[in-house]
Amino acid sequence: MTKPRILVDIDGVFADFITPCLQAIYEHTGAYYEPHQVTDWDIMKSCGIDLETAKIIYKNMERKGLCLEIPAYDGAREGVERLREFADVWAVTHPFGGEHWMHERDQWLIEKMGFVKEDILHVRSSRKFAIGGTALVEDKVSTLKEWCAEQRGVGVLFERRYNIGDSWDGYRAGNWPGIVSLLLDVLGLHAPSISLEGRIP
Ligand SMILES: [Mg+2]
Repeated sequence: MTKPRILVDIDGVFADFITPCLQAIYEHTGAYYEPHQVTDWDIMKSCGIDLETAKIIYKNMERKGLCLEIPAYDGAREGVERLREFADVWAVTHPFGGEHWMHERDQWLIEKMGFVKEDILHVRSSRKFAIGGTALVEDKVSTLKEWCAEQRGVGVLFERRYNIGDSWDGYRAGNWPGIVSLLLDVLGLHAPSISLEGRIP
């Protein structure tokens, strides 16, 4: 049987991009924010940072090593290993920018999440809709909606504080065990319970 292909977004799903971003905001403005204060997918908007300042802060984040230092969310490695038991898992990740990001993202995914290079797709969010798969796990509702409309696949929102209020009536889970269990359910892949009755002796 052909395995399902599960596409997974990285920032907000595996990688905690909020932590280095809040650090960069602190370094530039002196204002300290906690991750729980990020209540909008747009981190800068959550922190009341204007567009011009945001541009400077993001530029400052294009430094060597930043992508490699991004912390992984709890349960992400275990979660992706569970998915690999029943699916081909491809990373679809929007490149942040700068000359270091893409190869550092590759290295991060290979070393921390056990990916192989062939399964890492650097794709702008606005083009993720074109990537074929059985399911997409994403933290950005607009990307999920575009992908579902095009691919007619299973869209799963990785629920975070900053997307909980966004309009999405599809599947959702807020932690890795929940994501794995939901995908097993929706794809009908739970192991059938073995009945001893009716077995041929
Ligand atoms: Mg994301």
